[in-house]
Amino acid sequence: MAGRILIADDVTTSRIVLKGTMKAARHTILQADSAAQVMRMARNERPDLIILGESLADGGAVQVLGRLKADPLLARIPVVVVASVPNRSTRLAALRAGAEEVVTKPYDDASLQALARNLMRARATQDELDRRRDTARELGFAEIGNGFARQTRLALVAPDMKTAIHWRAGLGRVVNDRVALMTREEAMGQMPTGKAPDAFVIAASIESLGDGLALVSELRSRMATRHAVIIVKVADEDPAHLTSMALDLGANAVQSGSFDAEELATRLRPLISRKLETDALRADFDSHLSLAVTDPLTGVYNRRYAQSYLDRIAREARDTGQSFALMALDLDRFKSVNDTYGHLVGDEVLVEVARRLRENVREIDLLARIGGEEFIIALPATTTAQAAHAAERLRQVIGETPVKSPSRGIEIPVTMSIGVAIGDRLVGDVNALLERADRALYASKAEGRNQVTMVQTAA
Ligand code: GH3
Ligand code: MG
Ligand code: MG
Repeated sequence: MAGRILIADDVTTSRIVLKGTMKAARHTILQADSAAQVMRMARNERPDLIILGESLADGGAVQVLGRLKADPLLARIPVVVVASVPNRSTRLAALRAGAEEVVTKPYDDASLQALARNLMRARATQDELDRRRDTARELGFAEIGNGFARQTRLALVAPDMKTAIHWRAGLGRVVNDRVALMTREEAMGQMPTGKAPDAFVIAASIESLGDGLALVSELRSRMATRHAVIIVKVADEDPAHLTSMALDLGANAVQSGSFDAEELATRLRPLISRKLETDALRADFDSHLSLAVTDPLTGVYNRRYAQSYLDRIAREARDTGQSFALMALDLDRFKSVNDTYGHLVGDEVLVEVARRLRENVREIDLLARIGGEEFIIALPATTTAQAAHAAERLRQVIGETPVKSPSRGIEIPVTMSIGVAIGDRLVGDVNALLERADRALYASKAEGRNQVTMVQTAA
């Protein structure tokens, strides 16, 4: 993805070299040579990434980082610091001040380009999650909870056991997370969501050159570890292209050189806390979404969701030429259930009827409660004969066994009337088809209830 990058350095030649590297990757470049200018441009231009030289006319990188990270509007912009000489304390100070990465001159162009891509992509994902949170707020859902703090799980995948133990001993002194050692095979194995590690530190080369990167892409493709933090440890003897590959495959960061527990911990901490925050955001959003599209009493879909689903089924039928069925279902004389046993028992009957319907339709069929005791079922890729068969089975499943009330222990016989309409690729308005199913339902009522009426496709 091409983005807008602000390059800040008080040495003109440094800016020109960086500009060349980034322009080659089709980014738009903005330039600044002082801290004041960085702040002004960050506010006015909102760049996607800031690359900060070690010194500016009026302040060092750490000082500028402090000002950027203190401003809520600018804190989310990723920052890369370019150091002129390798220096551990400079690097740690910049990471602690909130830099996403520190690269040292002479840097590898491909790695810096991969880093820029990676950071801008992460930023876009973060923005998307923020948008969802804002939408949820707009729709009037409760404030997103922060989740509660839990001990995080960290997994180390090192080239051999001795190295793994050395890594763990070092990390154990600087992190509170639970640290597990894993072989490449163990990390490749299936892990249930919720049990999977929150973060991985993976050697770029485990058993053979670059095989750690295959693990990165495997972990990214799996549900349980898709959003895990991954830091790839590139050894001195690893070729430079492993760094850019690791970043392009979705590693959050690459650490090169000898193993440095403190630096690793400094990188892990903000990444893990962001991960926990976005996990909570995703979970909250999923539950809000399900609240918005399901019926609270029975748990089946509501009318709002059914409408969008029906439109999709009709569109698919036009594309594939496969016919589909719409069923309208309504409990018979339900008012008398309420009148005889009370509204609470009536509710219990509705819950049980919905459960039986759901258990007797396919995974791909849509079941929705669209009114008090009215349901619809949409059956994609279904012929007239299959639909007639399915409707008859549902009629029996409801009518042949009385519903037992959990609160009163009594058995309540209920029956259901059903109308079925078949749609095909010629279907125009799916709502008109639903009306035909509804008319068939009322024909079932008029004929004495507890029966199925089919209507043929309009000529
Ligand atoms: P018909 O065979 O013609 O469908 O008769 P009916 O009594 O089922 O028809 P009608 O539509 O007149 O009555 C539906 C009743 O369903 C009215 C109301 O008492 C009841 N009802 C609607 N929603 C709920 C609900 O959420 N819970 C309960 N317990 N009853 C409901
Ligand atoms: Mg009814
Ligand atoms: Mg009704």
